[in-house]
Amino acid sequence: MSYSYEGDGYAFDEDWEQTIEANNWSNIGIHAEQFLNKGSQLIDVIVKMTVSSQRGNVLDFIAFDLDVVSKEEFQDTSCATSFYQKTRMHVPYLYYLRSDLPIDWYLTSGQKFIEGKRVVAKSCNRCGRYLPINIDDELKTLSFSLHCKKQAPCVHSAFRAYKIQNRAHLRANELKGLTIEDSKVVSYYGHQLECKACKKFFVNAPLNPQRNAQQFKEDGLRRRAIEVLVNTLLDRNLIHFEFEHRTKKEFSRYIWEKFGRRCFKCGPDSDPIALGDMALDHTMPLAYLYRLDETATCLCSNHNSQKSDHFPVDYYSEEELVRLSKITGLSLTQLHKKEVNQQVLNLLIENVVWFYDAFLMQSDYQKVRDGIRTADKINDSLKRIIAGKVDLAEKYCKETGHYPHSVTIR
Ligand SMILES: [Zn+2]
Ligand SMILES: [Zn+2]
Ligand SMILES: [Zn+2]
Repeated sequence: MSYSYEGDGYAFDEDWEQTIEANNWSNIGIHAEQFLNKGSQLIDVIVKMTVSSQRGNVLDFIAFDLDVVSKEEFQDTSCATSFYQKTRMHVPYLYYLRSDLPIDWYLTSGQKFIEGKRVVAKSCNRCGRYLPINIDDELKTLSFSLHCKKQAPCVHSAFRAYKIQNRAHLRANELKGLTIEDSKVVSYYGHQLECKACKKFFVNAPLNPQRNAQQFKEDGLRRRAIEVLVNTLLDRNLIHFEFEHRTKKEFSRYIWEKFGRRCFKCGPDSDPIALGDMALDHTMPLAYLYRLDETATCLCSNHNSQKSDHFPVDYYSEEELVRLSKITGLSLTQLHKKEVNQQVLNLLIENVVWFYDAFLMQSDYQKVRDGIRTADKINDSLKRIIAGKVDLAEKYCKETGHYPHSVTIR
């Protein structure tokens, strides 16, 4: 790869090689980092790709593109941490280049491509791109992770069967080898609704970059919704943004350093953990409406799963609570408490009409996932923690004269 920038020429000629597997698809891509001054541009960009193989082999291409990575969310550093984690696994989709341009677009010689293998491309719920899935060898995933890898076959309709958008233009032989049901292509393992890149940057990462994939799968959207709810009621931004804006320091790193780079539960004599392996724990549980803030605890992912929504007093020993109080600055009295965050609950009650008619009405929360409307999940989990204190739906009803439409009243 070579390019010119502000009058200087740059060339990256590392011996970057990748062996590709025969009879399967491979993801290929490289990037170079260049600090760009505002208003300056890279010019004369050339990417050279050399393919070596034995005579007679045929190589199929799905897509090819080169460009400056210009996705809006990448203009600042908020996605940087996730970008550098397992980057290889997400190449080339994490660049958000165009994958829908005809490959002939880039041919400089007079050569022509001949028609190759059929490819199934699936649209991502978040970025809307059509990206290839490896329908003939699903375990070797391309742009989407599988939905039910261990519990195959996937039985979740939104994840397993995909409506064919260009059915009218397809010839019979192009559907060969595919399982078709009701004019939909069926996948054995099912695929996620968002592409790997969107999952990495926008579904899993922004609220809590250090939580691991498994935890996100379990309760991701509900937890994130409650985090957003609590922040909105308190009129606050995510701690990551607030903290970084205020101190110019990375929030996760701050917590990690504060705990001596060790999992608090593993203890002061344990081995340090990598920043990327830390799970940020709320200390006082999110489920009980406590916002993630500077009092967060550094845990390893195992202990974070164990702690989950427990109150500190139900998870730590007395000796640990004393130590935790010293590090976090939370008083011992606070750490012994087992109550919902009353300040936030009061705000929720005050804003109950907004909660049902605006917050839960957002299309993302009205979506049915695995047979359950997400708004119902959020509402139920709040119901559980405030049971006996207040009935939000009744409260809403008193104010408006009817029950909310955003949740299912049983
Ligand atoms: Zn996507
Ligand atoms: Zn599934
Ligand atoms: Zn631990």
